Amino acid sequence: MPTSICPECDEEVYVDADIEQGDQVSCEECQSDLVVVGLDPVELDLREETEDSFADEDDLGVHGYEDDRF
Ligand SMILES: [Zn+2]
Repeated sequence: MPTSICPECDEEVYVDADIEQGDQVSCEECQSDLVVVGLDPVELDLREETEDSFADEDDLGVHGYEDDRF
């Protein structure tokens, strides 16, 4: 069974002997979703399907309370 290297954790990932380019595998070490990008040798790349849209928290800013001086 051929192996490749996980681009995420550098561990060996076992792939099927009849794997094809574009196939998806999962790294057993880090659970990353990987996609086959090459076959000779087998190359894996991270599959980035979901793009989390991070909220821009800068807008929150710092609303400091003014000192009330009596
Ligand atoms: Zn991994």
